[in-house]
Amino acid sequence: MTEPVGLFELPKRYLDLQAQARELARACAPFAAEADEADRVDDRVLQRLRDSGLAQVTVAAAYGGRFDAVDSLAVTVVREVLAATSAHLDSLFAMQGIGSFPVSTAGSARVRETWLPRVARVEAIGALGLTEPEVGSDLRAIATTVRQEGDELVLDGHKSFITNAGDARFYSVLAREGADFSLVFVPADTPGLSVTHPHQIIAPHVLGDVLLDGARVPLDHRLGEPGEGFSLMLATLATFRVSVAGAAVGLAQAALEEAVAHATGREQFGTPLARLGPIPAQLAQCWVDVEAARCTAYRAAAAAARDPLAALHLSSIAKVAATEAAGRVTDRAVQIMGRFGLVRGSTIERLYREARPMRVYEGATEVILDSLARRLVKDVAARRSPA
Ligand SMILES: Cc1cc2nc3c(=O)[nH]c(=O)nc-3n(C[C@H](O)[C@H](O)[C@H](O)COP(=O)(O)OP(=O)(O)OC[C@H]3O[C@@H](n4cnc5c(N)ncnc54)[C@H](O)[C@@H]3O)c2cc1C
Repeated sequence: MTEPVGLFELPKRYLDLQAQARELARACAPFAAEADEADRVDDRVLQRLRDSGLAQVTVAAAYGGRFDAVDSLAVTVVREVLAATSAHLDSLFAMQGIGSFPVSTAGSARVRETWLPRVARVEAIGALGLTEPEVGSDLRAIATTVRQEGDELVLDGHKSFITNAGDARFYSVLAREGADFSLVFVPADTPGLSVTHPHQIIAPHVLGDVLLDGARVPLDHRLGEPGEGFSLMLATLATFRVSVAGAAVGLAQAALEEAVAHATGREQFGTPLARLGPIPAQLAQCWVDVEAARCTAYRAAAAAARDPLAALHLSSIAKVAATEAAGRVTDRAVQIMGRFGLVRGSTIERLYREARPMRVYEGATEVILDSLARRLVKDVAARRSPA
């Protein structure tokens, strides 16, 4: 007799995390809308995140974290819950991992021991500086430089659209080092580092530009060896990209619930909207989108938790599937709610705006599709070639 297949359910430690995340989301709910409209860190959200201890999930146990290693599935299920309530809360949580992961994997003992426990306790907010005014997807074209002078590293350049800029206590910065690229840990109070806030986006976000003008840090602030910048960045993406899918699923689920509540509570032509014309099919299609994205996200996140780099194609598929689904679901939800979906300050209007940037950051959809297509062609060719 064959073994019965177990249910496709999350193991208990992830269900426990979900429960903790729900508690944190509930604690932030009264001021979530206000926090999401601000472009600086909201102290109430920050304090609740600290109190919850959930940011420990973003750091390895050796440095005050929750699990032996940063676990992509854990980050994904937490983000799913948080993003349904507050994009700001979700972003604060996620960036603790994304900003600090290169430190976890390649920081010197001194930098790791000094900073990572503070990241886990949310005493130090992290940030990752890749993008520049002239460079987004094509990161090999960056102009920021780092050079060694004696026992110091000197940085010059301009990083743009950096999440947490101004509130972060440190930046992991990608810079050109000779003919290659390195990542460098730069504390926010380093002389020569300054922050401006030239942009505000349609869904407010803690965002700013980081200027480096002869900023000097000790030699042991280079993360890894000279020239390891891209491989460290790839390892970070491989661990965290799938968690954007989790956040997109949570956001889409929240939008769907708003639409269902509205469509069952309002009648037109003597019938609840939920039974009128194409609306039932639209609601059901949203449900299909959300569930399909959730399954893809969990599968990819479980694979990434085992081996992030080997699962990067699955994480990429999940990121595209879930963020595009969130775009469709929030758009349909607004349509189902008619003029009430367009009211400024309403939950659905906020979710609609918050879904949009997800298709651009951490790998824009088109850029990911391009690399997936290359991988697909290679894989199929390998399967079809005679052994
Ligand atoms: C809310 C938010 C937060 C962010 N936070 C950070 C952060 O913390 N740190 C950081 O470093 N950056 C951050 N960014 C920047 C983000 O990483 C970039 O926006 C992203 O990499 C895309 O770059 P771009 O916007 O310059 O678009 P571009 O690279 O100019 O792309 C424009 C369009 O062209 C398409 N395109 C580009 N190249 C290709 C290609 N080869 N094939 C097919 N299509 C292509 C893209 O898909 C896109 O549709 C953030 C952005 C946002 C919106």
